[in-house]
Amino acid sequence: MVAERRKVGILEKYGQEEAHARFAFSPDARCAGCKRPFPSTRIILMFPLEEMQKRPEWTLFCFNHPEKAQALLVRLKHGIHVRARTVYACTTCSPAAEREAAKAPSWATVEINRGPKHLGRKVYGCAGETG
Ligand SMILES: [Zn+2]
Repeated sequence: MVAERRKVGILEKYGQEEAHARFAFSPDARCAGCKRPFPSTRIILMFPLEEMQKRPEWTLFCFNHPEKAQALLVRLKHGIHVRARTVYACTTCSPAAEREAAKAPSWATVEINRGPKHLGRKVYGCAGETG
């Protein structure tokens, strides 16, 4: 008699929240606050391309690293943006990280991915707005 072997899915193994923390983001992602692995939240700070083009640092970066600069571009409903900063946070540190993100300039766009509990509620907003 052969023992029944069954594949265990990652959702069964880890549960929804833990599976998200382990596999949704880069395996190298660490919480910006406590440096623990498997953060639950990702915050991406995006600046409009026209705003970046006013800055000589960006022009220099595009000149020196054209492929990297291209990879940072993202097309949003309100125009092309540059992913200026990506921050990860664990459940403990994410309120502080989100407060920090809210201090971004008003013309910046902040994307906050808090995982499956908040699925379909991916927060897009300019600084000061809440999702
Ligand atoms: Zn943390």
